[in-house]
Amino acid sequence: MSKKNERAFANAKKFISGGVNSPVRAWQAVNGTPLFVDKAKGSKIYDLSGKEYIDYVLSWGPIILGHAHPKIIAAIRQSAINGTSFGAPTEAETEMARLICESIPSIEQVRMTSSGTEAAMTAIRLARGFTGKKLIAKFSGCYHGHADSMLIKAGSGVTTLGIPGSPGIPEETAQLTLSLPYNNLDSLQKVIDIHGSQIAAIIVEPIAGNMGVVPPREVFLETLRELTAKKNIILIFDEVITGFRFTFGGAQNLLKIKPDLTCLGKIIGAGLPVGAIGGRKEIMSHLAPLGDIYQAGTLSGNPLAMNAGLAALNLLKEKKDEFKILDGKTKYLCSEIENLFKGKGVCVCINRFHSMFTIFFQEGPVFDLATAQKSDTKMFARFFHGMLKQGVWLAPSQFEALFLSFAHTKKDISFTLDACKRALKNI
Ligand SMILES: *Cc1c(COP(=O)(O)O)cnc(C)c1O
Repeated sequence: MSKKNERAFANAKKFISGGVNSPVRAWQAVNGTPLFVDKAKGSKIYDLSGKEYIDYVLSWGPIILGHAHPKIIAAIRQSAINGTSFGAPTEAETEMARLICESIPSIEQVRMTSSGTEAAMTAIRLARGFTGKKLIAKFSGCYHGHADSMLIKAGSGVTTLGIPGSPGIPEETAQLTLSLPYNNLDSLQKVIDIHGSQIAAIIVEPIAGNMGVVPPREVFLETLRELTAKKNIILIFDEVITGFRFTFGGAQNLLKIKPDLTCLGKIIGAGLPVGAIGGRKEIMSHLAPLGDIYQAGTLSGNPLAMNAGLAALNLLKEKKDEFKILDGKTKYLCSEIENLFKGKGVCVCINRFHSMFTIFFQEGPVFDLATAQKSDTKMFARFFHGMLKQGVWLAPSQFEALFLSFAHTKKDISFTLDACKRALKNI
């Protein structure tokens, strides 16, 4: 850790609460001082002392094309020259919406927001307004942004920091959110039997990524779709991470399941602040100004974010076989990492879905939050610091997903495996 970085963090702590603008960035779970970033390019990220790392965080998901992609930079530059915000519609917004509708079959109309949090918040309000029901159900360990009703047994930083809910959320609000174990059909059936007629929506990450990666078990999402349809419950897929990560479309394209509403974010903004909610016209038309369910945003559909996102989506649209190659690359990396751990006699359970994965420091299987939490987080922290020292930047928490981008090369992967070998010596 350089003196320059120490100074940067000390300064930040003077003026920013906790020194960071989002809690997971503080590296508390790995007992470290966060590295400040100078710049990034492709699969590499650089700290203040100029040290290079292979980046597996990728801004927590958005950077699937690699950092500072020339086409995205050009789109942002051109857009900035023409003005950064108007508070009036632009054609770029229509084009973004059209691409989303074209690529995700369950979406007929969309509304853009400035974050995934806003998308999830809007989805919940829309579901309540549309159904006239009050209760919401979510799955423990899934994260849907930091709106009050979604911070109940949430994943991501909430799991990392061990916060069960959050002070500041009134009990009356918390009581309206039911929390269920992921991948558990018995408890789902029970809750729907008892509360079904009062549940407005069930929200789920189709591939959970915020308790570490936890893929859905067979028929879990199919059954969820059937049960919610029967009881007039709006099914919301939170695809903020998974949207456009595995294919040109959502995880729902691969799973062949149609939710009623879908939340998007991250990749569709190419690293600029963005979110989107989409679904059937019948539901979406209840939003103001057509309907009476209110939702708004000064910077929603911001031209810089739209043009960056459009550049990214147009690049991703051309990538058919490349998505398969990315999947294969990640598969190879994970199986080699697993072998290295095995050789060292250390138990790990690697959960992976295409280009996102988590190395859980335990035997496994990990299929929900309770099983994820059996991991040895102290050993994870030692591994994290070992890898960092070797030039590999992992997410600073056991309960997060790691990502590959199209910019990660075979050379990056063999470098990462060598780093892993060395890091394992001191684990
Ligand atoms: C990141 C994330 C969000 C929140 O998006 P922000 O842009 O950080 O508000 C919501 N849901 C999921 C699944 C996420 O991973």
